[in-house]
Amino acid sequence: MTRNACAIVTKCGKLAELSAKKNMNTQQNGRKFHIGSFEIDVIVHGFPGKSVCHGPLGFSTIALVRHGNRLALVDVGGFGQRLLLQDRLTKLGLKPADITDVLLTHSHYDHAINWLLFPNANVVIGQDELKWSLEQPWGETFVPELYMRELQQSPQLCEVTTGDEVFPGITAHMTPGHTPGSLIFVLKAGERDIVFTGDACKNRAELVSRTADMTYDKEITRESIGRIWDFWSRRSGSVLIPGHDLPMVQEDGKVRYLGEREAAIRAWYSEDLNKTTVISLNETKGQ
Ligand SMILES: [Zn+2]
Repeated sequence: MTRNACAIVTKCGKLAELSAKKNMNTQQNGRKFHIGSFEIDVIVHGFPGKSVCHGPLGFSTIALVRHGNRLALVDVGGFGQRLLLQDRLTKLGLKPADITDVLLTHSHYDHAINWLLFPNANVVIGQDELKWSLEQPWGETFVPELYMRELQQSPQLCEVTTGDEVFPGITAHMTPGHTPGSLIFVLKAGERDIVFTGDACKNRAELVSRTADMTYDKEITRESIGRIWDFWSRRSGSVLIPGHDLPMVQEDGKVRYLGEREAAIRAWYSEDLNKTTVISLNETKGQ
């Protein structure tokens, strides 16, 4: 190797090191990721829990993907997240009308209801998922029946199937088990990938155990989570963003959370409206 070539390699090595450090810094809080020409903001971190006495919490992940003049939301949350979602978009300088694409991992209320907040978006959902959703008896599942019926009739509907490119750089892949037509979205944009799993794998415990709390078939879920591991393991540094947990990376053979859990409930236990009790739901910090 010539001296000049060696100098170039050293310089490139340093630049690569700096760039890797910058990438690590931008993803430390588990909210913002830059990969190639893509910018991802996890605007709501999902929470891996259920209430004990009041049914599911429905605290699900909502992520924004920017690419050129396209803006996609991966899942859009339920009623409880409406104002929060709009507030977070405003803080990013965006209006709901700016969103060009909504990518739904599945039809459950806590991921899908708010599709109708985005009048200019193509709304992507799995063909099988929509068909299944419309066949469900009213009142018996977590499918928001009327919102799915409205979506079926909407010109915004964009039905997809496994392998389809649903946004520049993002492909959909069938991962049944939680629902029959659940999709994951894989963003391939550069040196590493991002895998949005929705509820095909809700949290770290499901990912590691390859089993799920809510599945219609354990073996199908095991296969789907195996497929998720395959996508996530193809390139080192790839990020997995689940439906109800913090983003994660693989490091030294272990799963490491990115960011810290921020979750709490405020309650009025006394007769004084101004006096509230905050119950923290933060169990782990960056483990
Ligand atoms: Zn679900």
